[in-house]
Amino acid sequence: MVCIYCGYDTTVANSRVQKLSNNVWRRRKCRSCGAIFTSIEKPHYPANIVIFSEDGSLTPFLPEKLFLSVYGCLRHRQNPIEDAKNICDTITRKIFANGVADGKVKKAELRNIIKVTLNRFDKTAMVHYQAFHAK
Ligand SMILES: [Zn+2]
Repeated sequence: MVCIYCGYDTTVANSRVQKLSNNVWRRRKCRSCGAIFTSIEKPHYPANIVIFSEDGSLTPFLPEKLFLSVYGCLRHRQNPIEDAKNICDTITRKIFANGVADGKVKKAELRNIIKVTLNRFDKTAMVHYQAFHAK
């Protein structure tokens, strides 16, 4: 990765795995200007998971879309952005815990994981989610 300030090559000064999010946090140092900054390495989910709908269509799993959906259900809370980030990490872990060997997750399964997770965290959020996704 190049320096965010001058574009020159960097070295990694420190590296830590963030277990809950499965991200790797890195402290980088520029070899030219000496600036220090943080980078985060994370799995690229759209290339690795697709959502399989009842009608047979496949769509890539987009963490940003999940975040927006969860955030929309948590707006009544004091720290909705932080809460939504943590809930999305939990949901993503649960998707993999359920098994995605072939890279596919059923849409109904995903919605169920989201509902159960939201319900455990905040019942009002779960009610919002159901209202948004009622058919
Ligand atoms: Zn630099």
